[in-house]
Amino acid sequence: MPHRFKPEEFKRLFPLFRRAENQGLVYLDSAATSQRPECVIQAVTDFYSASNANTHRSSHRLARAATAMVERTRIASAEFLGASEASEIVFSRGTTEALNFLASSLCSSLDPGDEILLSRAEHHANLVPWQMAAERYQLKLKFLPESLIPGPNGIPQTENFLEYLSDKTRIVSLTAGSNALGFSVDVASVAAQLQSMPCCLVVDGAQLAAHQSIDVKLLGCDFFVCSAHKFYGPTGVGLLYGRRELLETLPPWQGGGEMISNVGLNASEWANIPQRFEAGTASLSSIAGLEAALNFLSECDREAMYDHEQELTQYLHSELMKIQEIELLSRPEGNLGIATFVPRGEVSATDLGHGLDEQDVAVRVGHHCAQPLIDALGKGPTLRASVLAYNTRADIDALIVGLKLALGAVASAVSNADNELAALSIEDLRAHNDWQSRYRQLLKWGSAIQSKPMIRTELNRVNGCEADTWLQRERRGEHYVFRLDSDSRVVRGLGALLLVLIQNKTEEELEHLDIEGVFSSLGLKQHLSPSRSNGFYAMVKKALSF
Ligand code: PMP
Repeated sequence: MPHRFKPEEFKRLFPLFRRAENQGLVYLDSAATSQRPECVIQAVTDFYSASNANTHRSSHRLARAATAMVERTRIASAEFLGASEASEIVFSRGTTEALNFLASSLCSSLDPGDEILLSRAEHHANLVPWQMAAERYQLKLKFLPESLIPGPNGIPQTENFLEYLSDKTRIVSLTAGSNALGFSVDVASVAAQLQSMPCCLVVDGAQLAAHQSIDVKLLGCDFFVCSAHKFYGPTGVGLLYGRRELLETLPPWQGGGEMISNVGLNASEWANIPQRFEAGTASLSSIAGLEAALNFLSECDREAMYDHEQELTQYLHSELMKIQEIELLSRPEGNLGIATFVPRGEVSATDLGHGLDEQDVAVRVGHHCAQPLIDALGKGPTLRASVLAYNTRADIDALIVGLKLALGAVASAVSNADNELAALSIEDLRAHNDWQSRYRQLLKWGSAIQSKPMIRTELNRVNGCEADTWLQRERRGEHYVFRLDSDSRVVRGLGALLLVLIQNKTEEELEHLDIEGVFSSLGLKQHLSPSRSNGFYAMVKKALSF
């Protein structure tokens, strides 16, 4: 009998939230990964401490128990997704691996020129594997018209879907819910329209499965993929549902142990489905944790959880809408618990994300692995707050308070840094006639570059600079804003010089800059060591490579 859902009680089932250091944590990043309840964590450890063995291969008691656990989890997974039988469930490492498998296997039997229909809203996991397969098998990628996703009311319009098909469309692969803007897609309507067409429908259910009960038969799709870590399960395991008739026609994509029935030196015979698609040792402890997650969810009132998440999503949007200093990009209608926004004005999304982190509010900043969609919005990196059933209204209130504080703090830090930079002028530097005095002045300029631990990431690292140096570029409207940090005083001075030249410029303005001319006219080319000059140009390259 499912118990009545109470968010505060539910949250207490999660050990991470109970820890002393997490009492103030506001976790709004569940679209990236959910937290796990105690029973899931326990099942992972229990597997190793009580019943660890490899599956299928050995004849001993522990191996039999591990094999039984995997096959039990397969049955539970089939029930979780509404599949007709357990053999329609393939375990993968996650959504990404499942989509790579589908792209590789489904495309291998297509003819050159055949088409795959995708949308701009896809996660990179539902885009890049198709790009790779298209190149390998000379297929064409087609994309739904821009108006379809997210559509005029924020919800993708799926009527008249057949208009987007050609007589060469063989695969349609769509997300059931955008991880970047939260909108859900009526994949059931798409499936109904595709029924008599010679193409199959792949559904990326990574976000949907975390919020709604899934019934692949009702959805009517041919393939459905999702990751356990989004719905309270462990990382390292995901589910692929495929209609039996289709799975039976698919070639395996990886070879190895367990996926064969007979192996010769030059050729082998494949095992039946689903083992044919599960080469090698799976992440068995994760499958044990997945079993616990599925049992856990089967005892939850998922409808009540969904209603609670929907209420939070509405509240989140209505509260964010009241903050003038941000622009809300997502809409609450048909939304799977995601609010996406950007700061207006001078504040950068990345700095704001770090500002929120300082208040212990966890959100995600960037393009959320959906770069084509985020790029199309033309707002640069965005902040994403995402909710799951353990979140409460108090979490949203804390986000709003944190956001206001962070907006204020970041705006004043930015304006201080910008004022310091704005006070620097190349002419001042030039006025120092002798090189030693000019060099000392340049070193002083370095103080305009304050330490920014948050930009010290591998992505921002300037390669080719002797000292550890990081440069972050962010687009704000038409302009580009740069942030720099370095361990070296000289590089900070040179960096300040570079920022004076490039800060807050449009791409066109940046293209027309004569940085090299300024560099030589100040005598830097002549007096600086080659390694320092190279460091300067490494920063230029990092800043201006579009
Ligand atoms: N598709 C969507 C819609 C997602 O949200 C994600 C995870 N962010 C993925 C695919 C990829 O999932 P995973 O990283 O678990 O393979």
